[in-house]
Amino acid sequence: MAVLIPTVLVVLCFVSFGICWPLAEDNYLDEGNSVDGDVVIDLSSLGPEAFREPDEKSGEALSNWTSTSEVNPEETGEYLEGDILMPPGSLRNGMRDQSYRWQDGIVPYVIEGSYSTEQRNLIMKAIADYHRLTCIRFVPYTGQTDYLVIQSKNTGCWSSVGRIGGRQEVNLQTPGCVSLKGTVLHELLHALGFMHEQSRPERDHFVTVHYRNIRAGAENNFKKADAKSTDDFGVGYDYNSVMHYSDKAFSKNGQITIEPKVGGVKVGQRDGFSRGDVRKLNNMYNCSKE
Ligand SMILES: [Zn+2]
Repeated sequence: MAVLIPTVLVVLCFVSFGICWPLAEDNYLDEGNSVDGDVVIDLSSLGPEAFREPDEKSGEALSNWTSTSEVNPEETGEYLEGDILMPPGSLRNGMRDQSYRWQDGIVPYVIEGSYSTEQRNLIMKAIADYHRLTCIRFVPYTGQTDYLVIQSKNTGCWSSVGRIGGRQEVNLQTPGCVSLKGTVLHELLHALGFMHEQSRPERDHFVTVHYRNIRAGAENNFKKADAKSTDDFGVGYDYNSVMHYSDKAFSKNGQITIEPKVGGVKVGQRDGFSRGDVRKLNNMYNCSKE
């Protein structure tokens, strides 16, 4: 449609000696869901709470995380759903509810954080998984307009959702956010356009959320997205997704907050991509890789 309408109008312009050209331009721009041909990610389900500055409080909370903790490091933050942060005023055209996919799945990136060799290797292993299993390509930043900065400030684990334009930060504080490969995969999936698995519109068919166990003030982290603003890319609810919270996320009493409706199922793994994660990412980025 985005191509068809201007084409028809250009043909009309030729017929009418060009007098309708400005109209054609307007129509193209007014389509609203396509800026320089990019594919839009609908952020309207996140709401205004997603737009904020990073803070050291989240960094302090994360510094108490250890590998024996019962939740994942990215679930300890004060940000929306723990780790979603859209810098205020960051989105192009001031659009609050849209970000974009990365064109052709190419993501220029630079590591600015200070990481040990081991931590840097973990980040590179996560990137290698993207290259092995998907068509996403992380390429070294050489001055591209839109790019990802991997940094290690003391503000926790966080990322924006989708490509927001310009310099875009993903924070992986040490050591917490670079302890599990799945945390790195998780934050990068946010940057590529993924939301959390348990915020899918149909999640109540698959898990029970126990609100009585959720910390006061954290209830908002268990909101569901609207069906009209999300796309499952043909992949069903995935308990095994690296984007699913663990079952004690935001618990105030050590009791579970998310219970799968199927017995014996675990949620919150951070070992690696699930098959569903890979399929969804490949469908999102029109990749035919199996
Ligand atoms: Zn997350």
